[in-house]
Amino acid sequence: MKDIATPIRTRAILEKHGFSFKKSLGQNFLIDTNILHRIVDHAEVTEETAAIEIGPGIGALTEQLAKRAKKVVAFEIDGRLLPILADTLSPYPNVEIVHEDVLKADVESVIHEKMQGIDDIMVVANLPYYVTTPIIMKLLTENLPLRGIVVMLQKEVADRISAAPGTKDYGSLSIAIQYYTTAETVMTVPKTVFVPQPNVDSAVIRLLKRKKPAVKVENETFFFEVVRASFGQRRKTILNNLTSNLPNGKAFKEAIERCLAASDIDPRRRGETLSIEEFGRLSDELYRTFNEGPAEK
Ligand code: SAM
Repeated sequence: MKDIATPIRTRAILEKHGFSFKKSLGQNFLIDTNILHRIVDHAEVTEETAAIEIGPGIGALTEQLAKRAKKVVAFEIDGRLLPILADTLSPYPNVEIVHEDVLKADVESVIHEKMQGIDDIMVVANLPYYVTTPIIMKLLTENLPLRGIVVMLQKEVADRISAAPGTKDYGSLSIAIQYYTTAETVMTVPKTVFVPQPNVDSAVIRLLKRKKPAVKVENETFFFEVVRASFGQRRKTILNNLTSNLPNGKAFKEAIERCLAASDIDPRRRGETLSIEEFGRLSDELYRTFNEGPAEK
């Protein structure tokens, strides 16, 4: 039998089941097995690996994962796809479909229940583009036992995630993700390999989890607050952004200046030029100051 991801087989499956795409669920299915092989290669999936897929669609990527992995668990929100997947994936006993919105799912329990005894766990997916960032952030902040994440997403978001300091794409998303992982864009993908074709260009990113976050900070929540505040308005200096965007920032202006000096950061720099280490240093200085009470006059 031909692979699911060939144009002819995909069309036949869709016709057989009378399936119509839901744009609101980000349904753009892959019809190129070569691209799928490369995604699975980049994830370094072996017979020791358990793969978590988000949004199997009609099973194009699931099938390629099932051929190489020990186990595949796929979260699918659209109940109409369940009978189709039962049909297309029937040759693969190592696949399990979980009918759930991944954003609401207890992924940790699913790993615990369905992947016992497997140490190498990778998320591999062609993500629904309307929720790429929340899905990636959920997978990283829930402290799951993952080796990493290899996912297809909008090229524009991939560029922001893997951006280096000083570039136009570098921002709070780059830092949020690079705090937990080393991030790299490993492929760009043309629109023609999807049905229906999306409006935007696509790319595949590989996020490998760090053993420890990129910087050690006193308070993680506060660190991310400082990062977000620093990028509030990209044209403003770091000092102006922090005074405008940190709670009570105006009252703390002089203290913020002192913290910038103590962290060896010129107050006239822009947030986009700061490395993650510099944000770490600055956030610790600010955290100590902000927790000592009102600004010293
Ligand atoms: N993996 C398939 C492929 O590559 O051909 C389909 C990918 S398609 C871009 C995204 C899939 O995610 C669709 O099957 C869609 O129904 C599913 N989906 C959308 N939102 C979801 C969510 N919140 N949780 C789980 N699956 C979701």
